[in-house]
Amino acid sequence: VREKSVWTSEKILTSASKEVDIPNLTVDQYLFSNLEKWATKTAVICGHTNRQYTYEEVYKKSRIFAANLRRKFKIKDGDAVTVLLPNAPEFPIITFGILAAGGVVTTMNPVYTAYEIQRQILLSETTLIITNEDLVPTVKEALKLAEKDFPIISLNFKNKPEGTASFKELVDDDHVDISILKEVNRKHDDVAFLPYSSGTTGLPKGVQLINRNIVANCEQQNTDFRQYEYTTESHQDSTLAVLPLFHLYGLSICMLHKMSVGMKLVTLPKFQPDMFLNTMLANRIDLMYLAPPMVMFLGAYPQVTAKHLEHVRAVTSGAAPLPSADIQRLFEKAEREIQFCQGYGLTETSPLISLTPFGEKTYEDVGYLLPNMYCRIVDEKMNNLGPGAVGELIVKGPNVMKGYLKNPQANSEVFVDGDWFRTGDLAKINENGLITIADRLKELIKVKGYQVPPAELENVLKEHPAILDAAVVGVPDTVTGERPRGFVVLKPEAKANDKDIMEFVSKRVAPYKKINEITFLKEIPKNPSGKILRKSLKEQYCK
Ligand code: AMP
Repeated sequence: VREKSVWTSEKILTSASKEVDIPNLTVDQYLFSNLEKWATKTAVICGHTNRQYTYEEVYKKSRIFAANLRRKFKIKDGDAVTVLLPNAPEFPIITFGILAAGGVVTTMNPVYTAYEIQRQILLSETTLIITNEDLVPTVKEALKLAEKDFPIISLNFKNKPEGTASFKELVDDDHVDISILKEVNRKHDDVAFLPYSSGTTGLPKGVQLINRNIVANCEQQNTDFRQYEYTTESHQDSTLAVLPLFHLYGLSICMLHKMSVGMKLVTLPKFQPDMFLNTMLANRIDLMYLAPPMVMFLGAYPQVTAKHLEHVRAVTSGAAPLPSADIQRLFEKAEREIQFCQGYGLTETSPLISLTPFGEKTYEDVGYLLPNMYCRIVDEKMNNLGPGAVGELIVKGPNVMKGYLKNPQANSEVFVDGDWFRTGDLAKINENGLITIADRLKELIKVKGYQVPPAELENVLKEHPAILDAAVVGVPDTVTGERPRGFVVLKPEAKANDKDIMEFVSKRVAPYKKINEITFLKEIPKNPSGKILRKSLKEQYCK
């Protein structure tokens, strides 16, 4: 247990770890700055198909792809490029290719409907989309809805869908002149990634993460939190990339950080129990980064045995709270006490804010503040509460986003007292700096760790011709953590039953956002300024 007090007299928590230097590099430059150390080692392999690439191949193919993006697709510095893909070993080539071409990577969940895709295409001002052959029809539908007609690059292994360019052809051409990349002018403080998050309130917003945010978050982990060499000449640690790479937890922690230290990434296109377990046996997995439902699966699924977990050095869980019983079940399955850690953070903080250092047994807490960061626990008036009190956690550091894209209103709500960022989470921090997440203050619902913004579902509900007003709140669910529950007010004389409404919603949203419970009300409870009183809805109807 760390014993050093890290609270200042103003009740600001500073990190107990030594400050780290953050090199002024772009993510692409940073990732390949140690290439010669592991050039011939496997960078990424698909656990399902065994398709794989060495670090050298990822580097070379991403340069060729980048040159083609500039030459054939006219990508310019700062252009947003959408990546709509399940995890695949080509994900790093595509990401580094877009960055090397000067583009900004905006990711989407591959289970999104055309309706959800078109919205992000328009918000991010995407100019090109990279997807796979199975998703091309949905992308075409989304382009039609968005009234856009821009190129689609398809990762195809069976057929080349009509009207798309082939990713394979764009990366396999060794004769491409990559000198065009000399004209790219991207710096450490330019935006590199544009994931979407609803933040503390409202609809999903473009989170502008600059190169420095991501480089900082990688360096912040390479400290006393994780003090060992992942990759040496004779050894290479491996990690499972089963968490979606479109979400910042997967993208930044599993892919970017792990590749920056030369680890082997084993990708899985989705979480499917047998595939997951076979991959764990076939590839010696050292470090596992999971979301709570996967930890629960490892502890509870009858087919999981100690053999599956015998090589695992550490399991880290993040993205949502994890009941302690699930951690105990995991230890029972492993027949030993695996190093178990929690990571806590947000898309807006690149994502890690705190982490359990190796060697600690504080399983239910989310560890200590990363270096170069400051945080405060505040009351509603932003007064500092100090150690032991529960209040909102607000943070400051080099990994905090530049701001939401073209959204001054949301930025003014989320940044306070200068550059302090409001997490929207309730937390408690002890004298030694150990952080415990107590609850979520913000309206966000998390289903299996995925964001389900209530405002988004409320908008969908209000598009139903019979619905006058709607509200959505999250209710606890033993399997998924939470699930959304809807409340609707029908228009006078209008008729609709809950089945019709639920079907209407499920056609428009990804499966994990579906509503399975609708309550009809005469009025949605709101405060005088029109804000939905979600707490009162929860207390009245969701006990
Ligand atoms: P996202 O931007 O999708 O990563 O969501 C961030 C939110 O997920 C945070 O504000 C928390 O509410 C929640 N979260 C992330 N990590 C944890 C954790 N280890 N324990 C509890 N909640 C978490």
